[in-house]
Parts: sequence; C-alpha cells; structure tokens
Amino acid sequence: DLGSSLRGTLDDLRGKSRISEEDIEDIVKEIQRSLLQADVDVGLVQDLSDGIKSRALDEEPPAGTTPRDWVLRIVYEELVDLVGESTEIPLENQTIMLAGLYGSGKTTTAAKMAWWFSKKGLRPAVIQTDTDRPGAYDQSKQMADNAEVEFYGDEDSNDPVEIAREGLAATEDADVRIVDTAGRDGLNEELIDQIERIGAEVQPDRNLLVIDAAMGQSAKDQAQEFEDAIGIDGVAITKLDGTAKGGGALAAVDQTDSTIAFLGTGETVKDIERFEPSGFISRLLGMGDLKQLTERVERAMEETGEEEGDWEPEDMMEGSFTLKDMRKQMEAMNNMGPLDQVMDMIPGLGGGLMDQLPDDAMDVTQERMRDFEVIMDSMTEEELENPRVVGQSRTERIARGSGKPEERIRELLQQHKQMDQMLNQFQGMGEGDMERMMQQ
Ligand code: GDP
Ligand code: MG
Repeated sequence: DLGSSLRGTLDDLRGKSRISEEDIEDIVKEIQRSLLQADVDVGLVQDLSDGIKSRALDEEPPAGTTPRDWVLRIVYEELVDLVGESTEIPLENQTIMLAGLYGSGKTTTAAKMAWWFSKKGLRPAVIQTDTDRPGAYDQSKQMADNAEVEFYGDEDSNDPVEIAREGLAATEDADVRIVDTAGRDGLNEELIDQIERIGAEVQPDRNLLVIDAAMGQSAKDQAQEFEDAIGIDGVAITKLDGTAKGGGALAAVDQTDSTIAFLGTGETVKDIERFEPSGFISRLLGMGDLKQLTERVERAMEETGEEEGDWEPEDMMEGSFTLKDMRKQMEAMNNMGPLDQVMDMIPGLGGGLMDQLPDDAMDVTQERMRDFEVIMDSMTEEELENPRVVGQSRTERIARGSGKPEERIRELLQQHKQMDQMLNQFQGMGEGDMERMMQQ
C-alpha cells in the first residue's frame, strides 16, 4: 500500500547528513500519489508539493535537528495546513444548521452530533425540517431516540420554514439545537431557495456542510452553491468507515474557506469523531499511524500551539486521573494511536521512558476498548469520578446494566489503576530523575 512505501522513503533518509533535492522529490511524489488516490484536488496537491519543496530546500534546520526530522516536520506542517485545524465548536448554547445533498448523511449526522453534545454534558435537540423525503420524520425520530436526545418534527406539515420556527420554540430549553434540512439529487434552485428561507428563519450560529467521503471533485461546486446561499462555517465528512478517504471534501473546505468539524465513521449515533488533523492525515496517506511523524514534530506542535481537540496528553499530567479521563484518552487513541505513542508526544517524556513500562500496561485492544465504553455508560457520575467506590455489589449492578461480564468490569478498574499509578509516578518525577532514568 501507498502508506508503507512513503514510510519506506522516509526511512531511507535516516542517518543522512544532507537531504538532496532528489530525496525531497521522492517524498513529494509518494505523498502526491497517496493524496490523489484519496481524491484530493489536483490543485491542492500541487500547492502542498510546492510548499514542501520550497521550504525543505530554503529553510535551514535548527541546530540539533537532523535533516530527516526537519523534513518530517515540514511535511507534517504542510499537511496540517492542507487539511486545516478543527472547526471550533464551543460547548455553549447555539443553533447549528446542516446542509448537503440528498443521502450525504445529514439526518444521521444530526443525531450523531446531538449524541456528541449530550456526552459533553449539554442538552441537545434535533429539529427535523425535511418534508420532501417520505420517512424522513421516522428516520430522524428513531435516531434521536437512539441518541436519547430531544426531537422536534411535524409529520403532517409540508412547510419546512414553519416547522423550523415551531421547532425552535418547542426546544427553547435545549442548549444546542441541530436543524436538519432536506437534500435533493444534485443541486437545484428549489433546494437552495428552501434552505435560504430556513436559514433566514433559524438564524443559525453555524452552518455545517455534510459531505459523503466518496464525493470526488464535484464537492467543490456543490460547496460553492451552499456557501453563496447560507455561508458555510464547517464541514462534516461522513462514511469514512468505507473505502473512501474523504480527500474530495478538502476541495469543499478550501472553496468555502472553512474547516472540518466532525467525521462520521458508521451508521450508529456513536460513530462520530471530532476532526483532528493528525488522525485525518494518517488516514489520507494510508499510514496506519503517524508515529514517525508525530514523534518528530512534538516541538512543531508546541510552537504552533496547536488548537487542542477535546483532549491533550498534558491533561493527564494534572490532577487526579478519573475514569472519565481514561475514557477521553481511549477516544483520543482512536485518532492518535496507542498510548505509548501518545506519551511520546508529551514534551519531556521521550520514548525511552515508555520502553521501561510493562507491555500490558498499554494493552487496550479495540475489543476491550469497546467493552469498556459500554461499561462506562452504565456507571454513575460518582463512580466515573472516583472508581474506588466500585465494590462487588456495584460491579454486579454495572454488569447487569452493561450486559458485560463482571470480569470485564474488574479489568477496566485494574487498567485504570495501572494508568493512574503510572501517571503518579511521572508526576512525582523531577527533571533530574527523568534524566537518570533515561541514562539507565
Ligand atoms: P441525508 O439524506 O443527507 O439525511 O442522509 P442520511 O442521514 O439519511 O444518510 C444516508 C445513508 O447513509 C443512510 O443509509 C445512513 O445510514 C448512511 N450513513 C450516514 N452516515 C454514515 C456513516 O458515517 N457511515 C456509514 N457507513 N453510513 C452512513
Ligand atoms: Mg435526511
């Protein structure tokens, strides 16, 4: 696969004291192949290539940086520039409207986002204004039920603007109102006119454009139409669980001068991720993980003060480590790679330290992670904040609630305890200790 050949090319640079123009050409060629295969617009790929080449040839590596690390850093920075930072989604009272073509995943994304906000402690509501598609009401209501969020729709009305108006009034008590709209097979004036009128009624705080990952180059023109009609503030890319990598959507992002907010990775309401550049880049390039890149760009990330997603490795280093932290950490791992690699990115905690930990301290397989998620859903706030209170009777209750064996729950508690101890150890360490450990 392409990712591994790029990796090979990058590996070839190891130990070189000088990186030639030819080396850079090779890297750029590999990246171009991956990105074009992922449906990224040719013009964007060309801009990225030019950026990498001119910087790699013109800029001097800072003292103490090997040429290879320097090139990796440039490549990573330029890729982040290409995909953009994550759309800012404040956790506050707001109205969000979703737009997009028929079948792009708007209704699904509305429910997913509502679920996401509810997990952040807000009270979301979905307002369904699609009066064109038979079954839209039922589909949307069913998904809102699955997400356990408030829902407003009107099966009998055929006036989307009126539904929107009444929906806003009916969901007054909600913190976040997500307004789902109708789509069409292809862009037409009727759709644009309708969404303009809904937008005028709703006055959303932000409009998100929902794009199917499989959409290729036509994403650009579609995006422009919606941009002209309502203004696009962010993009949600859906169906990333399929073979499509979503590169086409980057043209829409570029065209609307917006950023990516969410990624859809499946059909259930929980299959949503906040967009985060490094995970998306590794998906685009088909590299299983970004270890080689991220290890080397720790300084770059610090310097650019990268917008934090929902979780930063440093958060773990402060205060007590709760099950909620562990959950966030597990969610972040989906994007960032395994814990040991995440730890590599924490300034001052180099790989050497991690190598000294027992392997199983880091062993959270996908299957266990999924079980742990389900188990945590059956735990109370108190238990999540302070897992020590979970004794035998609570374990039995959680097992019944989650449908998972008691053994799994004990594993979760054990895993948490190990990570907690490990973090305490790090926190207690002064710089001198750290250096001594590294030298051993
Ligand atoms: P809408 O017409 O824009 O409202 O699109 P829908 O939300 O109805 O989605 C259209 C189809 O795509 C449905 O069958 C959804 O289940 C499916 N779908 C939406 N998002 C995803 C996703 O992230 N992954 C997968 N596999 N299917 C999705
Ligand atoms: Mg729909």
